[in-house]
Amino acid sequence: MSKRSSFLLGDDGIYRCAEFQHFLWQSHGFGTRMANPEADVTLRQIHSADVLDAHRLTDRQCEGDALVTDDLNRRIGVRTADCVPILLLHPGKRAVAAVHAGWRGTVGAIVQRAIEKMQRDFGTEPSDIRAAIGPCIRECCYEVGPEVAAQFSSLFPEWPPVAGKQHLDLVEANRRHLRAAGVPTAQIFDSGLCTVCLAEHFFSYRREPQNPGRMVSAICRLG
Ligand SMILES: [Zn+2]
Repeated sequence: MSKRSSFLLGDDGIYRCAEFQHFLWQSHGFGTRMANPEADVTLRQIHSADVLDAHRLTDRQCEGDALVTDDLNRRIGVRTADCVPILLLHPGKRAVAAVHAGWRGTVGAIVQRAIEKMQRDFGTEPSDIRAAIGPCIRECCYEVGPEVAAQFSSLFPEWPPVAGKQHLDLVEANRRHLRAAGVPTAQIFDSGLCTVCLAEHFFSYRREPQNPGRMVSAICRLG
C-alpha cells in the first residue's frame, strides 16, 4: 500500500498534496468542478503513452499524454474526467511532470515512461521522485469488460480468472509502475478521491457521459 497522504481542498476550490507543499520551489494543484489551476502548456491528449518535454512548446501544439519540464514558471498540465492525473517532482533537479493515465496509457506504462524521460532530460534519480495521484475513477466504480481486463493480467498476476466484468484499480496499476521505475512507496501520495463517488466535487465521464467537464491538474517550478 502507498502512504495515505493528506490532500487538502483550498479555499480556491483546488486540491493540493500536503507532502508537495514542503517544496517551496513549486506550485501545483488538482482541479475540481469549482476551479482549475492555470496551465500554460497542455497537450492534445490521445490516450497514448507519449511523453514530451514542454520546453518551447505552446499550448496544445502537440499530441501526447504527459509533459516534463525543468523550466522556470512554465505551468504544465493535463486534463482528466475519470482518468488518473499524476504529478511528479524531483527536489534535487527541480524537475516536474504532469501525467494523464487512462487505461490505455496505463497499459503503456506512461508514468514509468515519464520518469525515464525526466532521467534522460534532467538527470533525475527515480529514488528521489515524489508522486501525487489525484482524483480519478477508483476500483469501487471502475467496471471493465474482459478485453480491457486482459490487458492488465500481467500487471496483476494475483487476479483469479474471471469470465465477465471485473473491477479494475487503475491507481494500483500506476502505483506498481511507479515502484517498478524506482520510486519508493513512501514517496507515492494518493488522494484516495473517486471522481464518480464524489459528484459534488468532480466531473466524471462515467457518471455524465453526455457532458463531462474536465479537471486540470498542473505543476510549475517557481524558483
Ligand atoms: Zn467510486
